[in-house]
Formats: sequence, structure tokens, C-alpha cells
Amino acid sequence: MNRSILGRLTARSTDPSVAPPGCDAFYVLSPVPHLDSGTDWATEAEPYRQKVQAYLERTVLPGLSKHVVSSRVTTPQHFHDELLSYKGAGFGMEPRLLQSAWFRPHNRSEDVEGLYMVGAGTHPGAGVPGVLMSAKALETVLPPLPESGVARAYAQGTGVPLGAR
Ligand SMILES: Cc1cc2nc3c(=O)[nH]c(=O)nc-3n(C[C@H](O)[C@H](O)[C@H](O)COP(=O)(O)OP(=O)(O)OC[C@H]3O[C@@H](n4cnc5c(N)ncnc54)[C@H](O)[C@@H]3O)c2cc1C
Repeated sequence: MNRSILGRLTARSTDPSVAPPGCDAFYVLSPVPHLDSGTDWATEAEPYRQKVQAYLERTVLPGLSKHVVSSRVTTPQHFHDELLSYKGAGFGMEPRLLQSAWFRPHNRSEDVEGLYMVGAGTHPGAGVPGVLMSAKALETVLPPLPESGVARAYAQGTGVPLGAR
């Protein structure tokens, strides 16, 4: 089991829907390999969850298993099948030094003319702040929209081409 575990409390006081009265909710992030590892998550997810729970119980949350009323596990299979993440990698390309910041795919493709990219898999990288910075970076390389009915409509915030109204 990967020990890089992060537990977070989700305050029920700010969102009562996260847990029944008298209870609270938290999630644990335990990094695992993508689907090339060959792990069969249909059979491995629950045993893995139990290992994580036992580890937390041993280290920081004594008595945890007595109090869990409900749990849900999200695996790389879910990221692959439901969210279309390549190889089920929840964080996209691994953020190693040579795959981070400038080394990530640039916002304007060098290979395909007219292709622009934004989001966690591109420069500068993942995480909500990184994704927002990627949108700002994209803005600096995008060419101006051609002057057309569609472009004018979107600029005016209607989203409907002027000629079609
Ligand atoms: C468990 C976890 C915890 C995280 N915690 C934090 C955190 O605390 N703070 C933080 O800053 N970041 C966190 N992150 C990272 C952050 O969530 C991501 O970096 C960010 O959401 C990426 O945004 P995005 O818009 O690039 O992609 P996504 O949010 O992944 O959005 C891409 C969307 O495109 C959809 N899609 C894929 N293929 C297609 C297709 N062919 N057609 C149509 N739609 C498609 C996907 O289903 C998805 O909805 C976390 C990530 C994970 C997995």
C-alpha cells in the first residue's frame, strides 16, 4: 500500500448533505499506479480500502472501523471508464520535473496547426490553480476570433449567431 495518504475532513457544518446527522465525512487519497499495472480493481478495491482503513486506525484514527457507516471507493477504473482519463490516471501525466511546467504539452500545439490545449495535462500543470493559469496562458497564444456573426454573438454573450435570430 502506498503510504502517501492524505485524509481530509469535510465539514458537515458547511454542507449538511455530506453525512447523516451526528456523523461527518472525510476522504482519503492514496496514490496508486494507472491501469498498466494490471490491477483488477473490481476485486482489489475493497481489500485495498480495508488496508487503508486499518493503516489509519493504527496510526491516526484509533477505533475508526467501529464508526464507519458508509464508504465509497473511486479507482483508476472509474477514472478510465466514466471520466475517460487515459489509462485511468486521475492526475494525468505524472508531474515529474521533465513533465512539469514548461515541459508539459504547450497550450499551442507544435505538431498540429490550429490546435490549442488547456487544462491539467498542459502547461503549467494540474491542480485547480494550475488549470486556471493554463487558461490564462492559453489566452496569450490564441489568435483573435475571426469577425463573424457567430464570433460577434458570443462576444455579446448571447451565444446565438445574429443572423439566426
Ligand atoms: C482525488 C483528487 C483530488 C484532488 N484534489 C485537488 C485539490 O485539493 N486541489 C487542487 O487544486 N486540485 C486537486 N486535484 C486536481 C484537480 O482536480 C485537477 O487538476 C483539475 O480538476 C483538472 O481540471 P481539467 O479541467 O483540466 O480537467 P477535469 O476536471 O478532469 O475535466 C475534464 C472533463 O472532460 C471530460 N472528458 C474527457 N474526455 C472527454 C471527451 N472525449 N468528450 C467529452 N468530455 C470528455 C471528463 O469526463 C471531465 O469531466 C485533485 C484531483 C483528484 C483526482
